[in-house]
Amino acid sequence: MIGKNQTPEDVLMHYFGHAAFRQGQRELISALLSGRDVLGVMPTGAGKSICYQVPAMMMPGTALVISPLISLMKDQVAALTQSGISAAYINSSMSREEYEDTLQYAAWGEYKILYVAPERLNAPGFKRVCGKMQVPFIAVDEAHCVSQWGQDFRPSYLKIAEFIASFPERPIVGAFTATATEQVKKDIIDLLVLRSPVKVTTGFDRPNLRFRVIRADNKIAEVKKYLLAHPDQSGIVYCATRKGVEAVCDHLRKYGYSAVRYHAGLEDKERRENQEAFVYDRAQVMVATNAFGMGIDKSNVSFVIHYNMPQSLEAYYQEAGRAGRDGSPANCILLYSNADIQTAKYLILHSEDNDELTSEQKEKVLQQNLQRLNQMAAYCKTEKCLRKTLRNYFGETAPDECGNCGNCCAQKKQADITLEAQKILSAVARAERKFGYGLGVTLIVRMLHGSKEQRVFQLGLDQLPTYGIMRDTHRKMIRAYIDHLVDEDYLRLDASEYPVLRTTERSREVLFEGAKVWMEQRQDLPKEKEKRKKITSSSSQSDLFEALRAERTGLAAQEHMPAYIILSNASLMDMAIKRPHTREELLRVSGVGEYKAKKYGDAFLKAIIAWEKSNG
Ligand code: ADP
Ligand code: ZN
Repeated sequence: MIGKNQTPEDVLMHYFGHAAFRQGQRELISALLSGRDVLGVMPTGAGKSICYQVPAMMMPGTALVISPLISLMKDQVAALTQSGISAAYINSSMSREEYEDTLQYAAWGEYKILYVAPERLNAPGFKRVCGKMQVPFIAVDEAHCVSQWGQDFRPSYLKIAEFIASFPERPIVGAFTATATEQVKKDIIDLLVLRSPVKVTTGFDRPNLRFRVIRADNKIAEVKKYLLAHPDQSGIVYCATRKGVEAVCDHLRKYGYSAVRYHAGLEDKERRENQEAFVYDRAQVMVATNAFGMGIDKSNVSFVIHYNMPQSLEAYYQEAGRAGRDGSPANCILLYSNADIQTAKYLILHSEDNDELTSEQKEKVLQQNLQRLNQMAAYCKTEKCLRKTLRNYFGETAPDECGNCGNCCAQKKQADITLEAQKILSAVARAERKFGYGLGVTLIVRMLHGSKEQRVFQLGLDQLPTYGIMRDTHRKMIRAYIDHLVDEDYLRLDASEYPVLRTTERSREVLFEGAKVWMEQRQDLPKEKEKRKKITSSSSQSDLFEALRAERTGLAAQEHMPAYIILSNASLMDMAIKRPHTREELLRVSGVGEYKAKKYGDAFLKAIIAWEKSNG
């Protein structure tokens, strides 16, 4: 056990095996320990749980953690138990017997940390037990769920204040969220009735995440390309719709990838099984709608690919942020096509109304959502540093270049072809007007290029103002532009015997509404390649990492635990670098606390020695 004059640092080291607090954590913990309420705003993966788990270990009695996410609770309780902390959860997924037992143990004060779903707070059984427990501290996770302005509003959160007030002595309250807007922060403070809380908003930057936007005509090919280049990485592919999930998942399976699916239209049982397959590393890829992941604490997610553009940067950052939670490098890739904007708009306009709002409020929410969509689209189109764009959106200043995002590494990958597009589209529009039915690709190219062929004169194409306006562009190039415009829906090819080019709804955007048109220039980028090599080089370190990973897989199977609950990838990496030979040295590895060292230390030390022997 750990001594009486323990500091938060001691607790962090002893139970969690971390040497230092991250930004914001210490401040929040000190405030809580001095009896103040707090509001902690940190991005997903920054380490909010430590902020309530450490003080919980330093206070008498049992801390309650209110969390809406059943899967997260289960995970966190497993992780705490693995760290030698007695913890449990209460939610609707338990059997009657489990529920009664847990309440009984809770009443006896067996737990340091007890997770509760908000719907359970006012259940009579639970209320009674609260009367018997000593509860010095209540943490409210995902606190933005109390606000009607966000997308995750949960009416049960509105009952939390009443629950807190029902204790004879009011517990200290800590609220935590990843949502940073002022309106939501204000709602949290008001609706949870926080008492002049200490507010800490940490940096929104996640340096280990590498953001990229790929303008992709053939998205599935991009996904496969990525999987091919990263065969041992596990990750999530998010699609905007259930149909999209089905299609992508089927396709990947057909090509031999171990993919599972997740969306709200599936039976509970299948969802549970698929989630488990992913969490236990039996499936490499999870293809899902945004129904998946709120509260997935799988820390070895190495990539998050968005197959469609999400509806807001908040949603994007939260979903993308599920990659690299253990701090090791991870890729966040957004596959963007212009049609995504229409899909997102449709989803916003057809989303379920929140019945607790007046029609005026509903209109305001709708306008806000459309505004957020605009900013999301701007992120997809920007040529500036993506990290800077994200950080600025969340209210932070940032350097102009991060040197590690798609745009910083792959400058000018996207060419602005707006001018060319305007010329081509007006040529097609002229032809449509002149002939009523339009012209085929070849003739359009000839007209634009100012061809002297007889057919051109016969048709009087040389009389049109668009004749020869692309004289200086190679014909092949003009053709490539046209193909791209068709792919992107700016033009369409009639499905007649001699297909003719026609304008579309989207042509207007370019001709009259100032929309920009981009085209990807497919070239491999030297900077990017170099970086990749560095990470995957088959140095001895990564060899040892693989050996340790195999050891972990064995232990996880023995314990029936997901591998990342035993130790995170970041911890294994640190271990491969430090190569400990003794218990003492092992404790210096990040993520290895006393309890884990005792439980698994020998296995890992042996694995290191065995590896060293066989590698000279
Ligand atoms: P959040 O709830 O903010 O999304 P978590 O609390 O799940 O994030 O923490 C994310 C990861 O960061 C976990 O794997 C956790 O072990 C790790 N972590 C948290 N605090 C620290 C720290 N001070 N040092 C090293 N790792 C940390
Ligand atoms: Zn950048």
